[in-house]
Amino acid sequence: MAKHTIVLIPGDGIGPEVTVATRRVLEASGLSVEWVEALAGASAVEKGMGDVLPAETVKAVQQYKIALKGPVTTPVGKGFKSVNVQLRQKLNLYAAVRPVRSLAGVKTRYEGVDMVIVRENTEGLYSGIENEIVPGVVTSLKVASEKACTRISRYAFRYATRRHRQKITVFHKANIMKLSDGLFLDCARKIHEEEYPNIQYDEVIIDAGCMKLVQDPTKLDTLLMENLYGDLVSDLCAGLVGGLGVVPGSNIGDDAAVFEAVHGSAPDIAGKSIANPLALIMSGVMMLNHIHEEALATKIKTAYDSVLAEGKSLTRDLGGSASTDQFADALIAKMK
Ligand code: NAD
Repeated sequence: MAKHTIVLIPGDGIGPEVTVATRRVLEASGLSVEWVEALAGASAVEKGMGDVLPAETVKAVQQYKIALKGPVTTPVGKGFKSVNVQLRQKLNLYAAVRPVRSLAGVKTRYEGVDMVIVRENTEGLYSGIENEIVPGVVTSLKVASEKACTRISRYAFRYATRRHRQKITVFHKANIMKLSDGLFLDCARKIHEEEYPNIQYDEVIIDAGCMKLVQDPTKLDTLLMENLYGDLVSDLCAGLVGGLGVVPGSNIGDDAAVFEAVHGSAPDIAGKSIANPLALIMSGVMMLNHIHEEALATKIKTAYDSVLAEGKSLTRDLGGSASTDQFADALIAKMK
């Protein structure tokens, strides 16, 4: 097996705990890997790097093209620009892909959920263009470009085709944001009509879409949306299948890919060894598929499906009492 060089960004809060567990699981699967550790987030500043997103970290991902990343903390309402937004913009990681599926052994209100969220990752309101017009009046610009809307639409349709999915639904608010969300819809429709008529297509105003999601998420398949909506809907969908501890993600560009869970740094549980590492482990499985280590990906997936179905070594968020490491140990034992 070829040796892979993968950048590992532990991040903040529960990040180091879940990245250590994930690294152990990936290595136990038989992955031949050299990890290049790189810092990002508050932990980078604490370790004297002088920046929340050191140039060395961006360079490492550019060089090695694949990274596994823990969450990083972003201050609310003040302070530095989100490290995640910066990283996605600097590396042009334009597609966030987040599979959301029901898991045997994880009891929720729904069964048979199997959706994928494809989120535009580089513009929209996350462009960070905010101005104070006069004291007491501020604006935040929502950017939509034909290039980025077309690129994410083409990515979503290609993904749906390759993964044998049936339908793409765009969540939008083009009844209010006629130009920006209108452009997003125009681009998605064009790609559907001209390049991928094989995939069914529809459009739903996002407020009604959220209602449909909680009424019966099994009716939805692949969801395509701009940046902010994708961020919000990802957490909503996580709640349908067991929470943030079980939803993985990837940020894909033409030149690099960064794999990370949907969840954040969870400061409320950081340092207690109770975080669920599964979302990052699942992101690691997505990474293995991306680097063509499909057999190892299947091995890990089979192992965690079995641990979940048994229900004996679940972390607290899933109703169990196992620690982060105990969950990883149980998973590793299944692969032996
Ligand atoms: P969060 O996702 O960190 O936590 C929300 C809730 O889910 C908390 O109660 C937390 O304990 C729980 N949770 C999250 N992950 C869990 C896991 N693996 N196991 C068990 N429980 C888990 O969201 P937040 O509290 O809104 O944000 C905290 C920080 O994370 C903020 O600074 C935010 O900006 C940042 N954030 C980072 C990323 C990222 O790096 N990709 C993503 C989202 C939020």
